[in-house]
Amino acid sequence: MPSRVCPVVLCFALAFGTVLVAAPGSAVAAASSGPAAAAPAGTAAAGPAHPAAGAAVPPVDPDLVALYIDLHSHPELSLHETATAAKLAERLRRLGFEVTTGVGGTGVVGVLRNGPGPTVALRTELDALPVEERTGLPYASTVKVKNDAGIEVPVMHACGHDVHMTVWAGTAARMAAARQSWHGTLVLLAQPAEEVVKGARAMLADGLFTRFPKPDFIIALHDSPRVPAGRIGFTPGFTLASSDSVDVVIHGRGGHGAAPQTTVDPVVIAARTVLALQTIVSREDDPLDPAVVTVGSIHGGTKHNIIPDEVKLQITVRTYSKEVRRHVLDAIARIARGEAAAAGAPRPPDVTVVEGVPATYNDPALSARLAAALRRRLGDDNVVEGRAEMASEDFSEFGLAGVPAALFRLGAADPEALARAHAAGEELPSLHSSLFAPDRDPTLATGVEAETVMLLDLFGAASPAR
Ligand SMILES: [Zn+2]
Ligand SMILES: [Zn+2]
Repeated sequence: MPSRVCPVVLCFALAFGTVLVAAPGSAVAAASSGPAAAAPAGTAAAGPAHPAAGAAVPPVDPDLVALYIDLHSHPELSLHETATAAKLAERLRRLGFEVTTGVGGTGVVGVLRNGPGPTVALRTELDALPVEERTGLPYASTVKVKNDAGIEVPVMHACGHDVHMTVWAGTAARMAAARQSWHGTLVLLAQPAEEVVKGARAMLADGLFTRFPKPDFIIALHDSPRVPAGRIGFTPGFTLASSDSVDVVIHGRGGHGAAPQTTVDPVVIAARTVLALQTIVSREDDPLDPAVVTVGSIHGGTKHNIIPDEVKLQITVRTYSKEVRRHVLDAIARIARGEAAAAGAPRPPDVTVVEGVPATYNDPALSARLAAALRRRLGDDNVVEGRAEMASEDFSEFGLAGVPAALFRLGAADPEALARAHAAGEELPSLHSSLFAPDRDPTLATGVEAETVMLLDLFGAASPAR
């Protein structure tokens, strides 16, 4: 639902914080010191097909900065990304892509057929979040809209999907300009509704891999405020967890708070249930197989002296393996029913899994290949392997649809601000924060370079060794 932030998804807000440090003197750091206005205009901005290894990453094109500012100041909620999608579709048309809009809702698919060769897909998301921006940036969002429940909410690109779109558009321009130097089919897809983990599934259901060329590989970047701008982070294998939301309604028998003997108190059952649920991870799950069970919401009752009829729990579950996921979900139901039965509840609780997204798996061979290509271009220090996270993403759906997939992290933190924060034992504002503000120009420049390098490598046109 676009009317609320999906409670189960928090993209890339964790990890890498203690692993990576600022990268002064790196190729990208050097590029970041140059003003965007120094970039050449027009087609020259597309840059060389084979950027010299170790050379400074070209500054971000002013046209892309303008696109970023436009997207940032005009965010749209999940499933309502109409104007955003139109802007991207128009850019792809101008570059010569075959463009289809309205795929899986507001999704956009652009295909650039460039002779025989592999088919490679590059994905961005389109949607923003109901967050009130407090960054103080001159182009900060002031957008407010009515959500589907009719409630006015602020809107902000607090997850950096505007970064992804801008980088994606810049990469499209680079690849279109460099089409003499690679061969194959490039599929650019702009996915709606990532924040509510519905868009990837909707695009697949709308024929993403049947109406359009099915890719041999699919790749994407997600920005991270815990990785300094100029760097790329990655995790082979499982990189993000599955996510399920579970609603539990515990039924009791309400009555007067001063006459508990006439009732079955669902508040007490709920309290026992919340504690008992903690034993799923601590006592039932293999300690080497990560899982999270968080009761994020508990609601029951209206007044001091009334025992209510029911209490509602909202639970988020994160796992990697399918077996652990199944076990945890089954255990929640078992424990909830067991506690209700032990208390003599008049009927068993209702247990409903309301939404779910599988774990995101980075194909190990593809990850190694892309990391090697990125290291040749950006340097070993700027391509860093990190830990997996328990956050979630619906990028997982593309991999499960049978396409080797890799989702890498794009450093978005001002390296000096990140170093200062770490020195103070703090972190910079996370994704989904009203204060999240990427280090714009170096983040965009590195993103375009990284996506171009990865695509060229997958098309067999890798840039030379560093
Ligand atoms: Zn997000
Ligand atoms: Zn995101």
